[in-house]
Amino acid sequence: MNIPESNFPRLIIVGGGFAGINLAKSLKNKPIQVLLIDKHNYHTFQPLLYQVSSSGLEPDSIAYPLRKIIKKSNNIIFRLTEVQEINPQSNSIETTIGTISYDYLVLATGTTTNFFGNKNVEAYSMPMKTVPEALNIRSLILQNLEKATIAKTEEERKAYLNFVIVGAGPTGVELAGAIAELKNHVVPRDYKDLNAQDMQIHLLEGADRVLPPMSKQASAKAEKFLKDLGVQVHCNTLVKEYDGKKVETNSDLELESETLIWAAGVTGSPVKGLAANALMERSNRYKVNRYNQVENYSNIFALGDIAYMETEAFPKGHPQVAQPAIQQGQLLGENIMNLMANKSMRKFKYNDKGSMATIGRNKAVVDLGKVKFGGFFAWFVWMFIHLMSLVGFRNRVVVFFNWVYNYVNFDKAARLIIRPFDKLNK
Ligand SMILES: Cc1cc2nc3c(=O)[nH]c(=O)nc-3n(C[C@H](O)[C@H](O)[C@H](O)COP(=O)(O)OP(=O)(O)OC[C@H]3O[C@@H](n4cnc5c(N)ncnc54)[C@H](O)[C@@H]3O)c2cc1C
Repeated sequence: MNIPESNFPRLIIVGGGFAGINLAKSLKNKPIQVLLIDKHNYHTFQPLLYQVSSSGLEPDSIAYPLRKIIKKSNNIIFRLTEVQEINPQSNSIETTIGTISYDYLVLATGTTTNFFGNKNVEAYSMPMKTVPEALNIRSLILQNLEKATIAKTEEERKAYLNFVIVGAGPTGVELAGAIAELKNHVVPRDYKDLNAQDMQIHLLEGADRVLPPMSKQASAKAEKFLKDLGVQVHCNTLVKEYDGKKVETNSDLELESETLIWAAGVTGSPVKGLAANALMERSNRYKVNRYNQVENYSNIFALGDIAYMETEAFPKGHPQVAQPAIQQGQLLGENIMNLMANKSMRKFKYNDKGSMATIGRNKAVVDLGKVKFGGFFAWFVWMFIHLMSLVGFRNRVVVFFNWVYNYVNFDKAARLIIRPFDKLNK
């Protein structure tokens, strides 16, 4: 792997997501050699993936080169590779470009889409966890609109114009709102050969309300905002089968659709090699203590989405969102330095900064502890926080410019099928 020899201990970080980059930044120019590994050469700002899928933003504006993040540090090295196995006996990992030893190993590999074992749903639906997947959705939506214009029968046209999103967590809700805006503002202007009202957006949710992790007030407001935009919300509805054409559910609801977007859940993406009891069976997350040490391993840590830590305030683990990942990454940097200096480590305590979701232009819902609000101000807060959280000044400027442009022109500028998507050969 061509890693230079060093007199300092070596710490390997697997994953350049929110957890990994915050840990790396906190170890900048410290007396430790840090090897950051990711299978992509960029960090992805996942909260805005849905805007790439719905043609609102270019993918480049929500991704950031990992080498650029670490360029000002003289102790951090990046390698583009996938980690395939951990050998805890020899303190080494195997990657696609070779084997390397570590003194400390940090697993920050995040999650992957959970299809709950349904092979057909996995084969034919569209996940949205990565930039390439978001681009696939963008292509498919635009391709299906094109196909609708030349459909030979009404049934065929209807299937191309039926967009089904499964999972009404923040991702599903935000995506449904964005596709509804495409329907309301872009389709009538661009696709004069289609009747925009024929385009249907269905949002399916297994729980009894949208945004189940948020407050009931937020759910009620979000559902109203969605309905105002023309989204058809189906709660208590689970997808049973999808063959690429027809969505079958646990109720009478059946939908002919060429587009099923799967935002119904995630599962941890661990690396093989650690003892089976280090993993939580159902969620595939590593069991960690309050210092993020993986159970039974003193020099292996797990952070962010992949880490399952029970605390009094969070007896079922922390929510799999950006803030725990960021905060754990920042604290572990400090703790590793303490560990090396034989000082005691600080326990992790999550500072919950609240949750939010946006539903089309001018509308969002925000839960900040006991303070809950929705509407225009919430939308403004949502925009500000997302803009400020983006990595890189250039990305913030580009996203801000795009949002202003889209807002003023009721437009979504990135309506391009750059890489056509073939659902049957994905
Ligand atoms: C569509 C979507 C929308 C979201 N919206 C929000 C939101 O609005 N607000 C919010 O707080 N959270 C949101 N989240 C959740 C948030 O993005 C995650 O909680 C956060 O990214 C977790 O950070 P992480 O560092 O643990 O993992 P990730 O950010 O997922 O990073 C994991 C990294 O590990 C790399 N990796 C994985 N396995 C390997 C391997 N074997 N070898 C090498 N590299 C590997 C991956 O390439 C990736 O870069 C959203 C997530 C998604 C998918």
